[in-house]
Amino acid sequence: MSDRLQARVEGARDEVTALCRDLVRIPSENPPGRAYRACVELVGERLRRRGFDVHYLRAEGALADSDRYPRWNVVARLESGRPGPTVHFNSHIDVVAPGHGWTRDPWGGEVDAGRIYGRGTCDMKGGLASSMVAVEALLDEGLLTQGAVEVSATADEESGGQAGVMWLAERGWFSPARVDHVVIPEPFNRELVCLGHRGVWWAELETKGHIAHGSMPFQGDCAIRHMAAVLDAFERELWPALAARRTAVPVIPEGARNATLNVAAIHGGMPEVIDGLPTPLVADRCRLTLDRRYLLEETKGVVAAEISTLLDRLRATRPGFDYDLRETMHVPPTTNHAEAATPQAFATAIGEVYGKPARFVASPGTYDQKHVHHVGGVTDCIAYGPGHLHLAHQPDEYVEIDDLVGAAQVMAVATTKLLHGR
Ligand SMILES: [Zn+2]
Repeated sequence: MSDRLQARVEGARDEVTALCRDLVRIPSENPPGRAYRACVELVGERLRRRGFDVHYLRAEGALADSDRYPRWNVVARLESGRPGPTVHFNSHIDVVAPGHGWTRDPWGGEVDAGRIYGRGTCDMKGGLASSMVAVEALLDEGLLTQGAVEVSATADEESGGQAGVMWLAERGWFSPARVDHVVIPEPFNRELVCLGHRGVWWAELETKGHIAHGSMPFQGDCAIRHMAAVLDAFERELWPALAARRTAVPVIPEGARNATLNVAAIHGGMPEVIDGLPTPLVADRCRLTLDRRYLLEETKGVVAAEISTLLDRLRATRPGFDYDLRETMHVPPTTNHAEAATPQAFATAIGEVYGKPARFVASPGTYDQKHVHHVGGVTDCIAYGPGHLHLAHQPDEYVEIDDLVGAAQVMAVATTKLLHGR
């Protein structure tokens, strides 16, 4: 069965290539979130022709939804007519801005030497194309004899997924009553099964000073110097402590097995861009944007307390030091168990297609699995898809056609196992 199914997918090599190119040629760039409707219709109408029940869902009222840039999603479902599990493939349709440095047309879907170039080829329209062709191959082989399959194409993953998977999960589209197994074809590489991701805690830290004439700084209190003391404490204590903390979760790349902290932005004093000459002032405010990625073994409480304890100590020991610390975003770590049905089905399928054992990994950054798991309550979720993560968001982003085909073979074989329990 597996061999015939794999051959069927191999026979759809031109199909998956054409579909990926068609998707890439729709410039569904986020922000602002353009052309979503065209993208979901391409997916929905193709699946409708295969008998799917297709729902176009605009996330009205959700973050960033507007009449100018409506947040469209599509969920397509095909029932076998006999009871059994539902396997769901979810892909985001939004892509980030092309940026500079391209030698190809980012919206061209150009094919060259076995690769398709363009924004979103790897992250993740290639994965979407693979999942659709995988499901179609399964239907062509008559293997949907119990349970159901679903394909969704959703908005705004790159900006947090509030108008996409989160909105759908809040309305029951991702819930244990409807869906048993969820696969998100993000580009983790065709031989890796991604079980989840680290947590995120973003905060804004402000140090306070006192404004004065810049020629007499001793009459004021410089908030930037206070922030320098914070960064000094981070260097001496916090970063070494984080670097010593490792997770048992198989996060890749290796450096992301540790807890990490990125200082994403710093600003203090006068505006960065001014007309004319600056005026002499002592900075009375300085702000830092913190991007802390935390491990399954940590808790948000400890993550926040670790920073506020350090700041409180500065307040107690450094004259004039005062601060505000404000959480701006929080996503808990999310992980599936390697022994769960979906990771196991994909690991077996990878073995059958590629003839080598699969590796279980976890992601340094988050993706829509957080909403599937924490909002929808569907825990048997993985990311598995074609492409190389390091090409995501880069100029000259591409996906290899061999990868599209191989990943689709794995998806088709694994879905059959999940539907039939073997
Ligand atoms: Zn992505």
